[in-house]
Amino acid sequence: MQVLNISSKYGAWKEDIDCIYYEAINSLKEIDEISYADKVIAYHWKGRILLTDPRTFIEKIRTLSSIILINEDDLEQIKKEFGPPPQLSNGLLDTIAYYTIVTEGIKSYIKREKRVEVPVGPTIFLIPEKISRLYLDIMEKYELKKDDLQALLLYKNPIEIILKIALFHEIGHCVFDNELELKNYKHDKYRKIISEGMANWFAYCLLNKDGKKVLDIISQKEPEEYKKYRLFEDYNKDRKKRKKFDLFVRACLECNVSKVEEAFKTLTPQSFRE
Ligand SMILES: [Zn+2]
Repeated sequence: MQVLNISSKYGAWKEDIDCIYYEAINSLKEIDEISYADKVIAYHWKGRILLTDPRTFIEKIRTLSSIILINEDDLEQIKKEFGPPPQLSNGLLDTIAYYTIVTEGIKSYIKREKRVEVPVGPTIFLIPEKISRLYLDIMEKYELKKDDLQALLLYKNPIEIILKIALFHEIGHCVFDNELELKNYKHDKYRKIISEGMANWFAYCLLNKDGKKVLDIISQKEPEEYKKYRLFEDYNKDRKKRKKFDLFVRACLECNVSKVEEAFKTLTPQSFRE
């Protein structure tokens, strides 16, 4: 994986981004325990039980060929030339960064216009200019509860926390979207919930306490599907519901869209399905 800067003023972020990428990979290597239940191996990972080895996520993350820093206008131009990627959602996190595939066409366009050689394959476009503003935007535009506002003010480096949240979220898309082939699954009403919910859930699992708190604050004002990680998280905490949750995660990872739909139905209370 290469971190490349096409046109951002924040080229100095390259090193931090590289570190965050490896932090995600290393944290997925930490499995606490492997146990046998119902002849199925369950993995204990960061206080969670998963029927799938979280280390398999690493293989998917390794398919990322690059993380590209770009300014807002240039990214708009690429979207205009090549069509935007299927817009799954317009949540805050996906406006500051997004996961997509660099095609031969995009590669030669960037080479011609920006004289930068980018590899073909899965990538994350990051807009550092927007990431650096997001914290202020949240403070200004959100009507935050007093406690949340105070919590945000306490962080020494809120931009770094938001960068991490954005990157983990997009890496989450790299893990889950590919496998589900969500792009060809246009009419699925659960699509956004699975995609955004799982991406946020993935980020939530990897974040430390401060990161989790900030993600909770950001998600308050996000579209519904971005909040669904709370649902996944609640299921994971409730032992009785854990099995259903694990089946859901496993179905997602097995790339089987109809199974995912089935699992989601059993996982989701009636009120979430309407
Ligand atoms: Zn997303």
